[in-house]
Amino acid sequence: MEIIYDRKSLLNFRAKIRDSKRSFGFVPTMGALHAGHISLIDAAKENGDIVLCSIFVNPTQFNDPQDFKKYPSTIDHDLELLLQAGCDAVFIPSVEEMYPEGVDISFKIDLGILDQVLEAAHRPGHFNGVVQVVKILLESVMPDHLYLGTKDFQQVLVISKLVETMNWSIKIIPCTTVREKDGLAMSSRNVRLSRTQREIATEISKALFEIKDQSYKYPPELLTKSYIERLNLLPEVTVEYLELVDSHSLLPLITWNEKGNNLVVTAVKVGDVRLIDNLVF
Ligand code: AMP
Repeated sequence: MEIIYDRKSLLNFRAKIRDSKRSFGFVPTMGALHAGHISLIDAAKENGDIVLCSIFVNPTQFNDPQDFKKYPSTIDHDLELLLQAGCDAVFIPSVEEMYPEGVDISFKIDLGILDQVLEAAHRPGHFNGVVQVVKILLESVMPDHLYLGTKDFQQVLVISKLVETMNWSIKIIPCTTVREKDGLAMSSRNVRLSRTQREIATEISKALFEIKDQSYKYPPELLTKSYIERLNLLPEVTVEYLELVDSHSLLPLITWNEKGNNLVVTAVKVGDVRLIDNLVF
């Protein structure tokens, strides 16, 4: 596995792939890798891609400085996992490499409602930071396939909008959420949970699956209200939001979509660890 630290070497690697005429898959991450990330590498391998993973904890997408400071870093373990998964190369830039002095970070696109609801409403500036870093990465990498987890549902829509706006011929491949045995969505932040918090965190995905099971029996708003109350009663739990929306428009569901596209999506703090999860049904 090739380890690349600077953008110049990345461009050389890119040129080699172009010569090989094989398809090229890209998996951007913030490291502290787990089986969820590896499922994206596996999907790229199954498609026959040469696979590049990036590990970069992007400071400009953290609206909470403490969250950035406490973001886990396990680089040796990450490299081990990527090697085992058969990843071809990994790009690990420094902040200076990604944002050299003079680089234009004022780039913005009109995200419309995507920048107003759910994650955007609770993390001001977050998606601007995501758009900035993904633009810089994609300009150098220019993959054929971009693998993204639907655990970050709104992020997939934001990056799709970026690719569409830039008119890039990059195919986005959304990948389903990998969960722990008890249903908790795998996340790099899970390692920050104490044992008790970890047990409590199970209730988040349980609530989503129960909402799915009880859909159509109750109006959407009644269900979300009742589960917000229940989750908030748990020790150390604060629900930032728990909403039922249309999975295309992200607008609140007034009644159930009979043909699917119902999205239940949540962000919950357990202690000071912020966890997100969602289900489409
Ligand atoms: P992150 O390192 O959290 O920025 O995530 C990097 C990529 O991995 C994003 O596309 C995430 O949506 C995806 N990802 C994170 N957790 C999971 C999971 N549990 N299952 C599948 N994909 C995931």
